[in-house]
Amino acid sequence: MHVMELPRKVVVGDEIIRDMGNILEELEVGASALIVWGPNVKKIVGDELLESLEKKSFKINWEIVGPSTFQEVERISKLTKKTRASFLIGVGGGRSIDIAKLSSFNSRIPFVSVPTSASHDGISSPFASVKGLNRPYSVVAKPPIAIVADISVISKAPFKLLESGCGDLVSKRTAVRDWELSHGKTGEYFGGYSANLALLSADLVIDNASSISTQDQDAVRVVVEALISAGVAAGIAGSSRPCSGSEHLFSHAMDIVAPGKGMHGEKCGMGSIMMAKLHGLDYIQIRDALSLIGCPIKASEIGATADEVVKALLLARDIRKERYTILNETNLTDETARSLAKDVGLF
Ligand SMILES: [Zn+2]
Repeated sequence: MHVMELPRKVVVGDEIIRDMGNILEELEVGASALIVWGPNVKKIVGDELLESLEKKSFKINWEIVGPSTFQEVERISKLTKKTRASFLIGVGGGRSIDIAKLSSFNSRIPFVSVPTSASHDGISSPFASVKGLNRPYSVVAKPPIAIVADISVISKAPFKLLESGCGDLVSKRTAVRDWELSHGKTGEYFGGYSANLALLSADLVIDNASSISTQDQDAVRVVVEALISAGVAAGIAGSSRPCSGSEHLFSHAMDIVAPGKGMHGEKCGMGSIMMAKLHGLDYIQIRDALSLIGCPIKASEIGATADEVVKALLLARDIRKERYTILNETNLTDETARSLAKDVGLF
């Protein structure tokens, strides 16, 4: 049996936060909302969002969330019960959406994703990453029932966030190749449709690299739509496989080896350059596209050292032992890891 979980509605457009009341009414998710967001996001879109919901007579509670930890998910899950919320709205970049996604999963109520930046595919995927679950990678929850992506808000976010989203997207090139490899070697399920959808998202970024670097609204829309499709590809696959391979293992390993250095997508992009070389893919095309966009392609650009990159490369395979990737076929040593990173220009 193969189960696909998909969002019911995706709304992308300019100044659509003010239509949230209408959008939610059409979704028929009940009358009681719990909104989770960070303090800055509340300042930027709060008034407009609250006003739009009030117009439609929703009962509204809102809460400022802290770091994306297991404890925070527990706190919001309890609050969901206390406020008798019939649905959750996660508004923000990463953590608010992750917390809303997992809390809604715990509380068995739907959640609506309202991204205010385009920094990773978690805005639409069924997966969330939080600290405190004893594993550095994403856990399965449910996809948002709806995604409302306001391009006029997202295009005002710092460029660094968009650039990180692009790194997360190009990394689907190696993620899909790892998935195919595993299918051949372990017999793991492989879905051609979701694999192609994820690859299409990577291609969109690579083909539009120079226009993305201008950060104009059309380019931001391309990245946002590509991130949404990548997340949906994971929903179709029923696993994070089309979106997360050896390059994500490298990114997670960097989180441990060099915490706080570089954003998720930036590290995935760098990881993808290296894993593409191991796969015999065109790593130069990936690197050139990232560089053209303005993404870091050297370890020093995220403040990391050569030793940290080598350490992360050696640790990557152990991050998630059951996930078969190119790292299982290449027994990296200190020496070969160092020359891999050096050959592709990481240092
Ligand atoms: Zn990712």
